[in-house]
Amino acid sequence: MIHDVAIAGAGPVGLFLACELRLAGVSVLVLEQAADPHAPLKRLPFGMRGLSVPTLEALHRRGLLNDVAAAQGPAAPHWAHQARRPGGHFAGMPFHLDQVDASAWPYRLPGPADTSMAVELESLESMLAARAVAMGADIRRGVGVEGVEQSNDAVSIRTTDGHVHARWLVGCDGGRSTVRKACGFEFSGTEPEFTGYSIDAELAEPDMLRLGRHYTPTGMYTYARPGTIAMVDFDGGIFHRTQPITLEHVQRVLRRIAGTHVTLTALRLATTWTDRAYQATTYRRGRVLLAGDAAHVHSPLGGQGLNLGIGDAMNLGWKLAATLRGDAPDDLLDTYESERMPIAAQVLDWSRAQVALMRPSPSSRALEAIIRDLIDTTDGATYIAGRVWGVRLRHDLGEGHPLVGCSVPDFALSDGTRPGERLRTGKGLLLDFGDNASLRQLAGRWEDRLAYVASGAADTLGLSALLVRPDGLVAWATQDRPDPNEASQVALRWFGEPMPAHAPALAS
Ligand SMILES: Cc1cc2nc3c(=O)[nH]c(=O)nc-3n(C[C@H](O)[C@H](O)[C@H](O)COP(=O)(O)OP(=O)(O)OC[C@H]3O[C@@H](n4cnc5c(N)ncnc54)[C@H](O)[C@@H]3O)c2cc1C
Repeated sequence: MIHDVAIAGAGPVGLFLACELRLAGVSVLVLEQAADPHAPLKRLPFGMRGLSVPTLEALHRRGLLNDVAAAQGPAAPHWAHQARRPGGHFAGMPFHLDQVDASAWPYRLPGPADTSMAVELESLESMLAARAVAMGADIRRGVGVEGVEQSNDAVSIRTTDGHVHARWLVGCDGGRSTVRKACGFEFSGTEPEFTGYSIDAELAEPDMLRLGRHYTPTGMYTYARPGTIAMVDFDGGIFHRTQPITLEHVQRVLRRIAGTHVTLTALRLATTWTDRAYQATTYRRGRVLLAGDAAHVHSPLGGQGLNLGIGDAMNLGWKLAATLRGDAPDDLLDTYESERMPIAAQVLDWSRAQVALMRPSPSSRALEAIIRDLIDTTDGATYIAGRVWGVRLRHDLGEGHPLVGCSVPDFALSDGTRPGERLRTGKGLLLDFGDNASLRQLAGRWEDRLAYVASGAADTLGLSALLVRPDGLVAWATQDRPDPNEASQVALRWFGEPMPAHAPALAS
């Protein structure tokens, strides 16, 4: 049997992609090397993952947001006892909501969720796995990918369990991706400066560590009771994955960084990571593609890797499905790389900038003081919020209205629905605020790929019509009387040729 798509890796990105492909009717086999989907590092406190607005929108557009929100739990917000509510942070420096100027994003409307949400990785993965299986994806656990060979029309995958065949393979197998290495993808970037530690420990005298985040002359640590510690040791990343993480080693590093003679009586859980920032120089080689950490790695500080990976999957799924169906425009699949690679490059730089602020040097402390001042201004807080929340994210889809390449605003439509709900079928959307016969006719020509919605909205933001891709990005928007020929050209670019039964001419 040959599958349409094989996915290596049942992490959040592989699973989300499996759902996207099944939504479009494509057969999917997911190969996951770990036999057991559960792991202590996926659970709280280390399994906590912050989701940004584009991820929350993607979950909403696929009907998953409520389940994720319900899995959050009733934890008290960490800002509850603070005078000003923080909206997030940059290298540990908070920005405050009272300084964020939302008018900087004139085409945003209040969305389906807040600007961020925290979720446990294990809950997110089990939700996505259950959804993928319910939709008909085949997930094989305990089966690792070991080698890949491709021909013009298929990929042969050597696994720990034999061989499987697929028309396409997507490597979602994490930062040390076997698929990436087996297929000769180039991976380049900057080497690590530090080893980061996430630790759950018992302390003899817990008060010897100060609560919160602290830059010291030898590194950085954060401490939360009873024994959750994260610390950064600027050792050039040499400890990471080269030696066992023992209590004695962790205590030695912690004493040096915290500058106190703290004693650990037990080490319950510990893991290390680095600030290595690398990115694949291409996301596709023949019939093999990369997504998520397999395509880009960076420090987890600032928490953007998962968000980046879900964005990859949302961008890739419908394009790969259209390519398999045979109705995709010739270059559609290539736009996955041209749209997503620059976004990942920005995130890598964002993480590098935070590392520069954390170095234990007088120049970094001086820089930190300046950034702190800037974050405490309206412009500074708004800039950082735009990046951290992901609300100023714009993909390069070419010229046009400022909304082109941005996420469709969550219009409150007259029938009580919102675009996010209308996108759940996986089709694109032609939103017509004026009920124009020519647009209705146009959508009819692509009705297998495009849903037509003629409606008013509580606030149309001055727009008269929009064409939205299945991933929720605006492909075309106008404030004038809609020109159906212009809309038709854009539809051709993203949705390919219309259904054959339809005449090419359009009434204006
Ligand atoms: C401490 C920490 C905190 C973080 N916090 C955040 C945060 O707040 N927000 C955020 O956005 N990101 C965060 N991240 C990053 C985020 O966890 C990752 O970017 C995300 O998990 C990547 O998802 P993925 O599916 O691409 O890869 P992974 O989660 O690494 O999944 C890859 C899967 O592939 C499997 N696999 C590997 N090799 C093979 C093979 N050869 N064959 C088959 N299967 C294979 C693995 O077993 C795994 O299940 C954090 C990371 C860390 C370490």
